[in-house]
Amino acid sequence: MRFLAMWNPFTIVGREIASERQIEDTLRELFSSKPHILAAFGVGLASLTAGLSGSVTAGLLSALVVLACLGYRIYIEQLFLARGPGALDPRWIRLFVFGSLLSGFGWGLSAAMLMYDTSPGTQIITVAVACAIMQGAAGRAYMIPGTAFINIALVIGQMSVAAFADGNYVFLPAGLLYSAFLASFIMQMVNNRIRQLRAEQTADRLLSEIIEKNELLRIANETLATKAYEDPLTGLANRRKFDLVLAETVTAARQDRSAISLMMIDVDHFKPFNDTYGHQSGDECLQLLSRAINDVVSGFDGALVARYGGEEFVVILPGENETAALAMAERIRVAVRLTALDTLPNAPPRQTVSIGLVSCPPGSATSREEMLAAADAALYEAKKQGRNRICVHTRSDPKLLKALP
Ligand code: GH3
Ligand code: MG
Ligand code: MG
Repeated sequence: MRFLAMWNPFTIVGREIASERQIEDTLRELFSSKPHILAAFGVGLASLTAGLSGSVTAGLLSALVVLACLGYRIYIEQLFLARGPGALDPRWIRLFVFGSLLSGFGWGLSAAMLMYDTSPGTQIITVAVACAIMQGAAGRAYMIPGTAFINIALVIGQMSVAAFADGNYVFLPAGLLYSAFLASFIMQMVNNRIRQLRAEQTADRLLSEIIEKNELLRIANETLATKAYEDPLTGLANRRKFDLVLAETVTAARQDRSAISLMMIDVDHFKPFNDTYGHQSGDECLQLLSRAINDVVSGFDGALVARYGGEEFVVILPGENETAALAMAERIRVAVRLTALDTLPNAPPRQTVSIGLVSCPPGSATSREEMLAAADAALYEAKKQGRNRICVHTRSDPKLLKALP
């Protein structure tokens, strides 16, 4: 901070780097009348000493002046506290500067009255009290050093004049020395204040950067977690997600004694498709077929379709009996059959799937391994019976598999 600007009575230190909240805190502290109450006690003590040692008029007048100053400081503090929210216009700084200079003048006047033609005891107490007040003012001067220093000068100046008039010629040079000492103390405080504001500013910036980075990290983690359960080619749930959901659904079906169905869907003759039309077309075909399957399954609450691997898909259908599951399987079979592949160059117009289905009626849910094995066996049977069909693994007789054309 430039030397001259620092001593301007209206300059609030670090105003350009401080936040609104810091400026508001600073002003609240400046307006606080607590230090003035303490100062009034001190001057009151010196006034009492003056009165007791015979200088009744000086004692009374100085006490009155200090009380008047204190009253005014309490009044302007109340004005400041009662202001509208966020109202920090220069009006308040002007009011503070005026109030502060008025107190400086008042303290100086009372101290001067107690210094002139009073007992040595009174003068010693007055100097001690004045030094304590000046030290206190200097300690708070890092916020608005110019005003504080004028304040100090007003007190020491008036006391020096009174002391000089009283024949004490040492007080003036001592007062000047003391003022110089306080000025260098204030400068040191101002430097510390600026350093503190800068450090707080850096801390605030770093904190908001950390918050922002944490948010980005959270989003990245969420995306990563979603991706970890997604099949990259089809966008369906992947095998990992399927394993988790199947375990959960089987457990829930057992606990709730509800129905659960599982189907395994395998694209027919997909190897020749790949060999003939290329891997790229094979990928696109899998995307089209997965969309068709997903369109059917997404109409069922709680159902999950996943890519089990390669050209195989699985569907978990909780809470539905065999009839409903069979109806869904048939809709999937037909949807795949009706999916046109004409967007793929030179590809055949249609593809088919075979579906193995296992259904556990309410209260008969078995283990996920058994369900998978049963659905796999049903799928195998569907392939064996000619493909493009659905086979159901009937639990009453595991060997009997109902086939739908
Ligand atoms: P089936 O009717 O008995 O199921 O005959 P299939 O040819 O479909 O069965 P097979 O298990 O012999 O072949 C599956 C083929 O699926 C082998 C592989 O080329 C193809 N495949 C598996 N994963 C992918 C994939 O991600 N992209 C492509 N383009 N092809 C895949
Ligand atoms: Mg297969
Ligand atoms: Mg196949």
